[in-house]
Amino acid sequence: MTKIMAINSGSSSLKFKLFEMPNEEILVEGGVERIGSSSAIFSYKFEGKKVAKELEISDHEAAVNYLLSVLIDEKMITSYEEIEGVGHRISHGGTYYEDATLIDEVVEERIGELGVLSPLHNPVNLIGIRSFKKVLPNTKQVAIFDTSFHYSIPKKNYMYALPYEYYEKYGIRRYGFHGPSHQYVAEESAKLNPNGKKTITCHIGSGASVSAVLDGQSINSSMGFTPLAGLVMGTRTGDLDPQIIPFIQEKEGLSPQEVKELMNTKSGLLGISGVSNDYRDVEKAADEGNERAQLALDVFAHQVVHYIGAYAADLNGLDTLVFTAGIGERSSRVRTSITNYLTYLGVSIDEEKNNKNELSIEADDSKVKVLVIPTDEEIIIARDVMRIAKLG
Ligand code: ADP
Repeated sequence: MTKIMAINSGSSSLKFKLFEMPNEEILVEGGVERIGSSSAIFSYKFEGKKVAKELEISDHEAAVNYLLSVLIDEKMITSYEEIEGVGHRISHGGTYYEDATLIDEVVEERIGELGVLSPLHNPVNLIGIRSFKKVLPNTKQVAIFDTSFHYSIPKKNYMYALPYEYYEKYGIRRYGFHGPSHQYVAEESAKLNPNGKKTITCHIGSGASVSAVLDGQSINSSMGFTPLAGLVMGTRTGDLDPQIIPFIQEKEGLSPQEVKELMNTKSGLLGISGVSNDYRDVEKAADEGNERAQLALDVFAHQVVHYIGAYAADLNGLDTLVFTAGIGERSSRVRTSITNYLTYLGVSIDEEKNNKNELSIEADDSKVKVLVIPTDEEIIIARDVMRIAKLG
């Protein structure tokens, strides 16, 4: 048996799962939320017991150190050497990585360099790697990139119509993100609908993206050069007319950095509703009659409808539609608002099954299988660590 740690760090959070492989048993799982605040929350589940603590965790390095100390203090492991491999989910792999890779100094350098393209994630991903390296210097560490699953996107789908030299000079093209999640749900959906070759996977969480998957391979995805493109998200704009950016910059006298911040952290559900970036809060406000909150929900759902239409065209049909991530897995309302517009594809859902968040929610007469699959990025990470680090 081999113990593998899977790490998934976000801008203010760090999730972990310690697996026993190859049987994929979760020994302990948990995470730290609100990193950077004096009321961060560290929580975990171990041997059926759930524990949550509020404490000060100043940054990602402190979060890793605290997590590792808890593993020993609570006797979840007896020594750090028991952890034979650590897998880190990394947002942007650029054109460098079509697969997961063992981390060395060059890999670290590239992850850092690609922080320009994924400012909310790559820098904290790198801190995660370096923090683990300090405590576990001899343990194999593997980077699992969000972009790798989308390496199969054909060139006609990833090129932007800018002068070609910018593609050559700077690698400006669509990359696609949320790879481990799209990969996981696509693999699970293939088990549930084995004859379904044409699949659209909708990862709808605080970050959101839709992918077109043909025979298990990604052929298009809504995020682009960076994770800002595509769908409306918690705080991100999604697609915009690019001319809007210099327009706002000039009118408001903003620097490039300020306009980037505006698009990444002040827009999306939060920007339209003025209420919150959290879907549940916006839903609540809409139910209480807040019109801007309702508008935010409508724009949010409709952008998914648009991408599903575009990707059904890319796939020339649709066999399986999958919803996943925080909102996709739990909000029957969002699934209803989206699928109401998909009757032309033969999609029809059973509202009772939908309301219960069942795994299969299509109606008996639906031509398309509609699935609600809880994502599991960490299992993809743990499997990749075993394969790439040649463990087990
Ligand atoms: P991330 O991992 O990118 O932080 P998640 O996939 O956890 O995001 O999704 C977070 C989002 O899911 C939040 O907007 C939250 O409001 C939403 N969410 C969680 N539970 C529910 C629910 N029961 N109904 C609707 N939305 C929910």
